Amino acid sequence: MSLTRTYDPQNIFARIIRGDAPCYRLYEDEDVLAFLDLYPQSYGHTLVIPKRSAACNLLDVDTDALCRVMAVVQLLARAIVEELQPDGVQVSQFNGTAAGQTVFHIHFHIVPRYE
Ligand code: AMP
Repeated sequence: MSLTRTYDPQNIFARIIRGDAPCYRLYEDEDVLAFLDLYPQSYGHTLVIPKRSAACNLLDVDTDALCRVMAVVQLLARAIVEELQPDGVQVSQFNGTAAGQTVFHIHFHIVPRYE
């Protein structure tokens, strides 16, 4: 079951964190990385991930890493709203294949929405 799978260190986001795969980096600190989604749902679609937590999803991520990620989600949502002036901004996070998750390293989507 994809909700309780073992973390795969070869997943694409783990490779991006290690520098083994490219990304368009928007933000990085010791704990959190944010980059543009390769297949954006809208202009400015951003992904935010923990760098040091080998967690597949919300169920197995440690709370401290989750809090650090969420602080950056808010920081970037504010920056995206200021910079891109969308009409709305959607923040989402999927857990398990049945919920639409395709990359099994926990991540949050920030999707600016335009009328
Ligand atoms: P999810 O469906 O929540 O697992 O979202 C995974 C997201 O990762 C999708 O929106 C993909 O477009 C995106 N994605 C997949 N591969 C890459 C990549 N190499 N760089 C940036 N985004 C990616």
